[in-house]
This record gives sequence, C-alpha cells and structure tokens, in this order.
Amino acid sequence: MPDQTREMHQWNQRWVLNGDHLQCATCAICQWPWNAGVPFRHAEGCALKPAQAQFPWKELALIMGRRVQANDD
Ligand SMILES: [Zn+2]
Repeated sequence: MPDQTREMHQWNQRWVLNGDHLQCATCAICQWPWNAGVPFRHAEGCALKPAQAQFPWKELALIMGRRVQANDD
C-alpha cells in the first residue's frame, strides 16, 4: 500500500468527515475547519485522546497535499 494511502487509512480510523465538520471516531466530538489551528478537544476519557495536541484538519490538508502531488508525478 502506498504511503499516502496508508496515512489516509490511518486518518480515517481516527476521524470522520461529516458534511462541513469532522469528528473523533470514538467520542464523536466535532471540529469545524475554521478552528483548524485550535488543538482538538476530545471528550473526557476518550481512548483516542493523545498526550500531545492534535490538529486533524491540518493533518488532513498535509495528507491530501501529498496525495495530489504523488498523482502528479
Ligand atoms: Zn475522541
């Protein structure tokens, strides 16, 4: 599996795009793109809550950028 495909699968295991927002696949807390620069806030006790800050919109933008670039080559 190409790296870009693998990282997209990994993103999809943690996040769900739902219309104009995304949500954590476990606690279902939502974030909108205009809050992309704000660390994601999971629900208390969420299993996907990491030690370090998460920016799922920025992560998605990076992944998509790499995918588009990879397809251009
Ligand atoms: Zn969560």
